[in-house]
Amino acid sequence: MADNNTILVTGGAGYIGSHACKTLAQSGYIPVSYDNLIYGHEWAVRWGPLEIGDIADRAKLDEVIRKYEPAAVMHFAAFAYVGESMENPGKYYRNNVFGTLTLLEAMRDHRIDKIVFSSTCATYGIPDNIPIAENHPQRPINPYGHSKLMIEQILRDFESAHGLRSVALRYFNAAGADPGGETGEAHDPETHLIPLVLDAAAGKRPSITLFGNDYDTPDGTCIRDYIHVTDLARAHVLALNLLEAGSPGTAYNLGNGNGFSVRQVIDKAKLVTGKNIPEKMGARREGDPPALIGDSTRAINELGWKPQFASLEEIIKSAWRFHTSR
Ligand code: UDP
Repeated sequence: MADNNTILVTGGAGYIGSHACKTLAQSGYIPVSYDNLIYGHEWAVRWGPLEIGDIADRAKLDEVIRKYEPAAVMHFAAFAYVGESMENPGKYYRNNVFGTLTLLEAMRDHRIDKIVFSSTCATYGIPDNIPIAENHPQRPINPYGHSKLMIEQILRDFESAHGLRSVALRYFNAAGADPGGETGEAHDPETHLIPLVLDAAAGKRPSITLFGNDYDTPDGTCIRDYIHVTDLARAHVLALNLLEAGSPGTAYNLGNGNGFSVRQVIDKAKLVTGKNIPEKMGARREGDPPALIGDSTRAINELGWKPQFASLEEIIKSAWRFHTSR
């Protein structure tokens, strides 16, 4: 760790950001959360100060950067609803792309030269082959994925021009909750499979709708690579360490390398919760690839990353613990 251990965490009140703040604090850093609280929660900021602000607000960014003089940035703040991005692309390009550009220009002007960026497997679009490695062509199929891919390009350009180095982390399906129960997934609206399944188990929703069972997969439902949010958080700190050690910019996939179908997730959730989970069969959701599985070999070898909560059971158990505590 460098002498200056203060890290600006945009989106620090959000799902993945709050888990990253906990891991940063456990690793000896001071996470300063910068969040507009549109989707983030004040209760999720427990490991450092909260500054309420928008990434597109240059004056507020300048004020917060002057106040804390962070050594690096972890950038989670983004809109992340794929469906909404198709209906309202302007909202996504404005917030994600323009907002990030504002943040990067502030970093450049304040001479902060390290950023760990929250990217996504949605930058790959429909894969030609699985598991997906980092050199797979990036062809997003929705404005959300495009916005993240544009930012990856902007990051490379800022490194060439300004020496601002970045690690872009392309997550597969973030899931689970802090094993200590101190933070977890609480989206509103919720669109993700595991929290919706747990809502149905708890009787908070009448049922879970399966988005299609006629895919070319063993049980006909879509396959995804679920990765525990605390494992993602750990990878962010390792990526920060890599930048501190002087590494040039790069990108890594973060997944478990295992795929589970929607059917398998529901079956495992029944086992973990001991509850009946009523289900309905629905139509396919537009833009859903049949199977997404990540090849994270490079992150494992180059970051020394090793998922600690790799089993689907542990992932669902931790999510259920948080779910029932709320
Ligand atoms: N899914 C589903 N019903 C739901 C929500 C999701 O069948 O109510 C499916 C979805 O089609 C996908 C998988 O569950 O195959 C994971 O979806 P999620 O939205 O959690 O993550 P994504 O893969 O879109 O990032």
